[in-house]
Amino acid sequence: MSQESPLKLECSECGSKFDFDLSDMDFSEESHERSMGAELIVTGEYVYNCAKCNSQISIEYHRSEYPLGCVNEDELTVDGANEL
Ligand SMILES: [Zn+2]
Repeated sequence: MSQESPLKLECSECGSKFDFDLSDMDFSEESHERSMGAELIVTGEYVYNCAKCNSQISIEYHRSEYPLGCVNEDELTVDGANEL
């Protein structure tokens, strides 16, 4: 993981702030054989409701390594909250 520290988020509905720890997320890995070897795809998803206004916040993580060890994509998508 490139981001070790908790993510600071602010609910886009009510503005309440909270930390999100990436280690709370469940990750799944899959690999595919391609011409230069294996491609590794790591995805994670975490959905919860704001403690204050109950608005749904979802966080998705996507990483792809191809060839193995070479990160092509590393992105985190947050829906329902803003990253601070
Ligand atoms: Zn909220």
